[in-house]
Parts: sequence; C-alpha cells; structure tokens
Amino acid sequence: MRFDGVHEKTVVIIKPDGVQRSLVGEVTKRLEMKGLKIVAMKMMILSEDKLREHYAHHVEKPFYPGLEAFMKSSPVVAMVAEGKDAVAAVRLIAGVTNAGKADGGTIRGDLAMGMCNVIHCSDSPENGEAEVKRFFDESEVFEYNKTEWLHVYMEDERA
Ligand code: GDP
Repeated sequence: MRFDGVHEKTVVIIKPDGVQRSLVGEVTKRLEMKGLKIVAMKMMILSEDKLREHYAHHVEKPFYPGLEAFMKSSPVVAMVAEGKDAVAAVRLIAGVTNAGKADGGTIRGDLAMGMCNVIHCSDSPENGEAEVKRFFDESEVFEYNKTEWLHVYMEDERA
C-alpha cells in the first residue's frame, strides 16, 4: 500500500468566530468527509508576534489592528490536513475570503457573511509547509496510515 503522492500538507485554523459560533465540529466534519487526513489538531491562543508573522502581508493595512484583535479574541483550533493537492482542495471547500460572496456549498459561503470567515487555510504548498512549522512542533504532527485512503484515491493517484 503506497501513498507517496498524497502527503501535501495544509494548515487550517478555525478562527475565533468559528470557535465562538460552535462550528469546530462542522468544519472538521467537512474536512474529514472530503477525504482529507487530519494529522495534527490543537486549541491555542495566537500571540501578537505569531499574528504579525502570519499576516505579514497585511500588517501595514488599515484593517490590521482589527484583524489582530479579532484573531486573539478567543482560542482558535489549529489543524494540519493532508492529502493529494490538499492546499488547493481545502481552498476550494473554504470559499473566497469575503464570506458574503463565497459560493454556497463552501465553508465560508454556508457559514459566514463577511470577513469573520470561520477559517484560515494555507494558500500554497510552500506556505503550507511554512505554516506547519509556524504553528506546530514536530512532535505534534502525526504520521499514520489511513486505510480509508484506499477508497479515496485510485492507485495511480497515490504514487
Ligand atoms: P484568506 O487567505 O482568504 O484568509 O485571505 P487573506 O490572506 O487576504 O486575508 C487574511 C484574513 O484577513 C482574511 O481571511 C480576513 O479575515 C482578513 N481580511 C482580509 N482582507 C480584509 C479587509 O479588507 N478587511 C478586513 N476587516 N479584514 C480583511
């Protein structure tokens, strides 16, 4: 049983609105039902330093202070999901940034209305790798076989 081709990692963070609105189960369920493998999961409060690093592309923007205050307003649930082209797959089921404009059927489209958009997810495989290191110690990320994958990917997709 070889699963060499399906180990791309993406970080999903259920934001404070997702935790406060009791959407942890719903988001996790959607990731699991899609066929992704959860290889890490923990609750944490994001520090200012971590947020400035994570949102470096937004730090100078006028909305950044509000974004930072929102993101540290309560604990978040951080996860690593793994699968074939996992970053793109999760971006698709997450929906676009402005949840009010996100397609029905997506997490943001179904569960939110604006920039309180329930989840963060990595936007490239490189950022996925960097974010795993940013939010998790090596010992918190698990390697295990998911037998279900035999029924998620055909053999040629797994190589
Ligand atoms: P994402 O990858 O889809 O989350 O989008 P970005 O990396 O561009 O933005 C990160 C997060 O910052 C978004 O998910 C929003 O929560 C927030 N954000 C982005 N643009 C805006 C904005 O114009 N106004 C506000 N208030 N928040 C924003």
